[in-house]
Amino acid sequence: MTTWKSNIRTVVPYTPGEQPKQKVIKLNTNENPYPPSPLVGKVISSIDLDSLRKYPDPTCDNLIEALAKYHSVDKSKVFVGVGSDDVLAMSFITFFNSKLPILFPDITYSFYDVWADLFRIPYEQKLLDDDFKINIDDYSKPCGGIIIPNPNAPTGVAEPVEFFEKIVAAHPECVVIIDEAYVDFGSNSCIGLTDKYDNVIIVRTYSKSRSMAGNRIGYAIGNPELIKYLSDCKFSFNSYTMDTITLAVGVASLEDDEYFKARIADVIKTREWTKGKLAELGFSFPDSKSNFIFAKHESKDATYIFEELKKKGIYVRHFSKPERIANYLRISIGTDEEMQQLIEALRDIL
Ligand SMILES: *Cc1c(COP(=O)(O)O)cnc(C)c1O
Repeated sequence: MTTWKSNIRTVVPYTPGEQPKQKVIKLNTNENPYPPSPLVGKVISSIDLDSLRKYPDPTCDNLIEALAKYHSVDKSKVFVGVGSDDVLAMSFITFFNSKLPILFPDITYSFYDVWADLFRIPYEQKLLDDDFKINIDDYSKPCGGIIIPNPNAPTGVAEPVEFFEKIVAAHPECVVIIDEAYVDFGSNSCIGLTDKYDNVIIVRTYSKSRSMAGNRIGYAIGNPELIKYLSDCKFSFNSYTMDTITLAVGVASLEDDEYFKARIADVIKTREWTKGKLAELGFSFPDSKSNFIFAKHESKDATYIFEELKKKGIYVRHFSKPERIANYLRISIGTDEEMQQLIEALRDIL
């Protein structure tokens, strides 16, 4: 019997980390433990209510101009969206239209295979080695596109710009997306490659380093032709993706670079302290250049530690797939006090 069910698009959705209602120590979604710049607060408290009557600027001019200035690129190289998830989804639709599979690591941001399935893009996942490093030879054959986060998530492992330049230079037949969600926490950006190559696009977010996950701001930097195609797809979907308030606070955050750099330095310092303490407790982990640590304990199960921490009101992230990371926990870097409490809790549990 034919039913409407045969005409439905069915997918297995991405599962975001839990957002508990009660007050907990929340180290499970890589949010920044510090609030955004006070300038952001000022802008929000001075919003003119009457301005909300009108649709927001569909071209997002002010924010795009501020981002272009911040990164010293022409504004024709900048695209903005509702968090980098929106920018990435739009990029998949725009750039990945080959019959050949797109390539990305087996251990990486778990949204990539969800978008590929949703948009019916063929893909191949390339195995990271035992140290969670990318084998560049896996990315040498012609393909429909490549997406890699740098640093990678959830491992925190970063590769140098030259590594990505080799990949980009080897693939004139497709677009390479570099997802720099965590680049501000101590690795080098590939934005410079967009001057030299027309097939690379860099995706960034305000959610982690800029402490503004609640606002949903993401952006891409690439050559003007790629940005034009990306905008065409966006305007074929929803003209008004960014709201008036968000556009304004996005600019304000960029205007307070001193505050931004100081909070990043705080997170990095706490991360390095946490690494030392975790190692003392019998954890091993790849060297993270992000605002989280991906750690495995020498004797205790990740599921056990996850559950025990939760009982104590400390939330971390546990991925059960793929199988070879099932014994790891991804621990976001909180404030010094939060990390001290984490270490104390772990001492009790282990
Ligand atoms: C958090 C994250 C994103 C999504 O960020 P939003 O801007 O909040 O949508 C994208 N890519 C990676 C690798 C991330 O960890």
